[in-house]
Amino acid sequence: MKKAVVCGAGGFIGGHLVSKLKREGYWVRGVDIKPHEFRTPEADDFRLLDLRHPENCWEALAVDGGTCDEVYQLAADMGGMGFIHSAECDIMHNSALINIHMIDAAVKSGVSRYFFSSSACVYPDMQPGDPEMTEDQVIPANPDNEYGWEKLYAERMAQAYARHYPIDVRVARFQNCYGPYGTWRGGREKAPAAICRKVAMADQGGTIDVWGDGTAVRGFTYVDDLVDGIYLLMQSDLVNSVNIGTEEYVTVNDLVQTVIDVSGKDVTIEHVDGPVGVQARNFSKARMYGLGWKARVSLREGIAETYPWIAEQVRLV
Ligand code: NAD
Repeated sequence: MKKAVVCGAGGFIGGHLVSKLKREGYWVRGVDIKPHEFRTPEADDFRLLDLRHPENCWEALAVDGGTCDEVYQLAADMGGMGFIHSAECDIMHNSALINIHMIDAAVKSGVSRYFFSSSACVYPDMQPGDPEMTEDQVIPANPDNEYGWEKLYAERMAQAYARHYPIDVRVARFQNCYGPYGTWRGGREKAPAAICRKVAMADQGGTIDVWGDGTAVRGFTYVDDLVDGIYLLMQSDLVNSVNIGTEEYVTVNDLVQTVIDVSGKDVTIEHVDGPVGVQARNFSKARMYGLGWKARVSLREGIAETYPWIAEQVRLV
């Protein structure tokens, strides 16, 4: 039985990834600085550890007097656009420390395969209709925010370790991801969760505020598709960074309308000032498609799974 350690297992994607690895027959240890807010851990073992400290990275990876086979590094200090712009120093300090210490501990403990979760935020701002960018076109680099710069540095560091030490590294750049069991309030939630919350809290005939003019273009990837992609990439020979995301690009207004339609409510949108991020992103998925992966869940289907879960959370508080 393969043994995997999922760092960030108390978070949204990490929690779903633990479930995926369990379904695939792995022994799984989850590690996080906090327990999962919404789910009972499915991991065989769960450790509360602050991975900014090297000794905790070593402890996370120590299994039965040896080490694990695979590490999935998803722990990060992160959130939606509001958080990314207001907490630049925390993001750069905390996530960099986690990444610096975790890849080093993985190599020195003898881990054979390491996954790093990067982000489409490594790419520069684009305009709708711009030709899609391939993974290699990330250089010359010009990420729109410091979160993207930290991700790019961490990607390159993990890949440098793979060139110099006996460890295989796989890197995926995630598009915006959404689904149930993710942060939906408090300032770290991302756009799909925030919109679901606002619609769920709105009265019939009420209004919700949406940051910006709603014309920014995005792709939103449902979490089940994303974790399938992570797993497939980890089994593959792809050594360079790989984009994972859906083909379905929509405007923020389209996203809001989809949520409203799924809710069945009569709600009006009011555009207000707020951090919007880039105008558009359009990146190539050819590498992932080469592995036989493609996002299967449409935005409408994914919101139909996500909205009821968030509406229920709203009802419970
Ligand atoms: P999340 O915030 O739900 O999960 C991250 C987890 O890391 C949290 O549970 C957090 O407690 C944990 N963590 C933070 N600091 C830690 C520390 N010092 N020690 C141990 N654990 C710590 O975020 P997510 O959406 O599940 O994202 C997972 C990964 O995917 C992150 O690296 C993120 O940057 C990346 N990513 C996410 C998206 C998205 O749309 N959700 C998009 C691109 C990239």
